Amino acid sequence: MARTDDIIRRLINAHGTNDPLKIAAQNKIMVLFEELGKNIWGYYACINRIPSIHINNRLDDFQTLFAIAHELGHHKMHPGINTPFLRKNTLFSIDKIEREANDFAMKLIIGNNKPECAETKQCFLLRCGIPEEFHVFY
Ligand SMILES: [Zn+2]
Repeated sequence: MARTDDIIRRLINAHGTNDPLKIAAQNKIMVLFEELGKNIWGYYACINRIPSIHINNRLDDFQTLFAIAHELGHHKMHPGINTPFLRKNTLFSIDKIEREANDFAMKLIIGNNKPECAETKQCFLLRCGIPEEFHVFY
């Protein structure tokens, strides 16, 4: 998705990082780690124009990174839209905004990394620190 590529390129240039937590902080988006039970990974809320990202405190390191990047994607790409909770089983949602947020998350985490010549998708994504279960989003 060309629009996503464009947004991410500008975001990384403006912030000097592809770290979603740092980008959120620089955008004055609160990232809160909460008890959200077994199924909800996170959600994005904007109340009285104050944006916040809520992340399940039980997620592992990569899931946390992905969930923050996904919610940041909603903030950047879907302002004013009420987005659904991110759940493990809706990672594979066919909903357009969810697919866009997953695409955004993957591209942000990949950042400025480029596949090397003859490098497989799997090798490339692993080199970017992305576990195999997420490769389907690339
Ligand atoms: Zn979402």
